[in-house]
Amino acid sequence: MVGSECTHLEQIAEVEPQTPTGCTACLALGDTWVHLRLCLGCGFVGCCDSSPNQHATHHFEETGHPLMQSFERAEDWIWCYVDKVLIKPA
Ligand SMILES: [Zn+2]
Ligand SMILES: [Zn+2]
Ligand SMILES: [Zn+2]
Repeated sequence: MVGSECTHLEQIAEVEPQTPTGCTACLALGDTWVHLRLCLGCGFVGCCDSSPNQHATHHFEETGHPLMQSFERAEDWIWCYVDKVLIKPA
């Protein structure tokens, strides 16, 4: 795995997306999003920073869960909010 700068990789859990169809928080609000991110700490699905509500970033600020994986079909990279590195699974 590239991204050995990140010290949180052992925290990656086998998570089930809480809401496979969209951002957990936007669905609750009845709002919309642009791209989706999956929290690898708890399965929260949040919207990206291009979305109006930026729930993925808010989720990190509220919970401290550092690792967010892209929840887009063609993408599997992981972003660490703490180390600010992009991790590419092999
Ligand atoms: Zn990290
Ligand atoms: Zn959202
Ligand atoms: Zn989380």
